[in-house]
Amino acid sequence: MFKVHNFSAGPGILPADVLKQASNACVNFENLNLSLLEISHRSKNYENVMDEARSIIKDLFEVGEDYEVIYLGGGASLQFAMVPYNLLSENGTAAYLNTGVWSTKAIKEAKIIGNTNVIASSEDKNFNYIPKDYSIPSDADYLHITSNNTIFGTQIKKFPKSPIPLVCDMSSDIFSRSINANDFTLIYAGAQKNMGPAGCTMVMVKKEALGKTGRKMLSMLDYQVHIKGGSMYNTPPVFPIYVTLLTLKWLKQNGGISWIEKINQQKSNVLYNEIDRNSLFHGTTSTDDRSQMNVCFLLNKPELEVEFDKLWKDANISGIKGHRDVGGYRASLYNALPIESVNVLVEVMKYFENKFT
Ligand SMILES: *Cc1c(COP(=O)(O)O)cnc(C)c1O
Repeated sequence: MFKVHNFSAGPGILPADVLKQASNACVNFENLNLSLLEISHRSKNYENVMDEARSIIKDLFEVGEDYEVIYLGGGASLQFAMVPYNLLSENGTAAYLNTGVWSTKAIKEAKIIGNTNVIASSEDKNFNYIPKDYSIPSDADYLHITSNNTIFGTQIKKFPKSPIPLVCDMSSDIFSRSINANDFTLIYAGAQKNMGPAGCTMVMVKKEALGKTGRKMLSMLDYQVHIKGGSMYNTPPVFPIYVTLLTLKWLKQNGGISWIEKINQQKSNVLYNEIDRNSLFHGTTSTDDRSQMNVCFLLNKPELEVEFDKLWKDANISGIKGHRDVGGYRASLYNALPIESVNVLVEVMKYFENKFT
């Protein structure tokens, strides 16, 4: 089969096996002679999918009965609003760490719901580092952080010890490395970066944190309503949830997070080493905060852009054009990207250097 090395930032690469199983389910789901797309979400077969899709999250995160998992539509962007709506009390304050475009958007929504306090920001240097000198106000309702900044290519390596509930947008590095999930009150992630296709968002929340805002809640924006309904208060995005389940099963069956963590480390080491070594490239972020998922780099001689672009396109590499806010290149190394693809990119970078220096 013709092989494309897919470094897309999102929606991102999925395992080939998952795509195959997903397409089979579109035609004949579990030998029902019906498509998954045309059966009731309340059918036994689909209820099993939903149960498994929820329990596998708790399994991979190693958390207990005190957490609930729900799947929602609306993208991670809807969570920018739902988090403060559900956790920020009427007279309270929410603390935010501003590390990029996505946290900025989360802050914008929280400000509409209530009082916010941006305790640190790296905006002064176009978000090329993670702020570390800040104190967390012990009287705030929660602290919101973004574990991986998909656009700027930075990642929080050491999570803050928070005296208040810790909320994290993990959209672009969920299940890429081992973390202590019990340190978080709420974790959310849009599926389309590292755990599935676009169309569903996973929210895992500690039950005890809910129902405390004093706010009269709209049903569709109320986590408790979705928990009570088992993520079926309304018709859930059935297909994206199914493909997310397949992707997480793929992860689990291959060895889980400890397995993928090693591979992700290898992949990013190989690429960052080449960026540092190669005289025609440099990285865009502070070395300590470099993301293992989204590797951003620039050409030292921008006039060679056309030549470099031709080389990687000829090598069947796809999706490494940088985001418009950073320019240059961004190679996303999500879980499903094999190390062979990174090796191909590195070979192209070496060849490019030999040819043009
Ligand atoms: C992509 C992304 C989002 C936005 O996700 P949508 O599903 O498009 O709303 C939010 N946060 C992070 C970290 C992202 O990478």
